[in-house]
Amino acid sequence: MKRIGLLGGMSWESSIEYERLINEAVRRRLGGVASADLIVRSYNFAEIEELQVADDWQTAGEILAADAGVLQDAGAEVIALCTNTMHKVAPAIERSIDVPFVHIVDATARAIERRGIDTVALLGTRYTMEDPFYIDRLGSFGIAAVVPDEPDRTMVHDVIFDELVRGVITDDSRLRYLAATDTLVGGGAQGVIAGCTEIELLVTDDDLTVPYFPSTALHVEAIVEAAFTD
Ligand code: GLU
Repeated sequence: MKRIGLLGGMSWESSIEYERLINEAVRRRLGGVASADLIVRSYNFAEIEELQVADDWQTAGEILAADAGVLQDAGAEVIALCTNTMHKVAPAIERSIDVPFVHIVDATARAIERRGIDTVALLGTRYTMEDPFYIDRLGSFGIAAVVPDEPDRTMVHDVIFDELVRGVITDDSRLRYLAATDTLVGGGAQGVIAGCTEIELLVTDDDLTVPYFPSTALHVEAIVEAAFTD
C-alpha cells in the first residue's frame, strides 16, 4: 500500500470525510486494524477562499504546487487534492510532482461512463460551474454537463460558502438543491454530479431519482485504487 498525500482543508468539513472514507476502504481491503498511510496538508480555508475571491489563481496554484512537492518529499507516493474548485490549478500541481496525481474530474467521469450516460447536471461552486477547467475535462470523456441558470446558480454557490463549508446542513437548502436538480433533469440531465466535496453532506443518493455522482466518494475510490496499484 502506497503512502497517500492529501491537500485538504478546503474545507475541512469534506476533508475529514476523505480521511474517514479512505481509512474505511483500506480496512475493507486489508482487514484487521489496518488503516491508510496518510499525510494531510490542511489549509486555513479563509486564506484560500480569499485568493479565490481575488481571482488570484496564480498564487493559489503556487501554494498548492509547493506543498504537493513537500508531500512528495515526505514520502507521498500518490497525491490528491480534496476539492473540485481548486482543480482549476491542477496543472501547476501536476508539474511540481513526479508521483501520480489522482484527478477528481477523471474519477467522476469514469463513474459516469460506467453508468452509460452522457449528460449530467453539475452542481458546485460558481468557479466549477462556470470555468471551462471542469466542464471541458468532462467533455474530453464525451460527457456533457449542464449547470443551473440564475437564480439557482447563485443559490448553489452561496449555500456552499455560507453553509456547507461552515458545517451548516439544513433541510431548506436540501430542498432548494433538489428543486434546482429537478429543473436540470427536466431539461435532459440523466444524472447529477455533486461537484463540490461538501455537497454530499447535504444531498444523498436517496434524495434523487436519477444516478448520483458524489465527487468525494468517487475521488476516494480512485485514490485508494491508486494506492494499491504498482
Ligand atoms: N470543497 C469545495 C469544492 O469541492 C468548495 C470549496 C472550495 O472552493 O475549494 O469545490
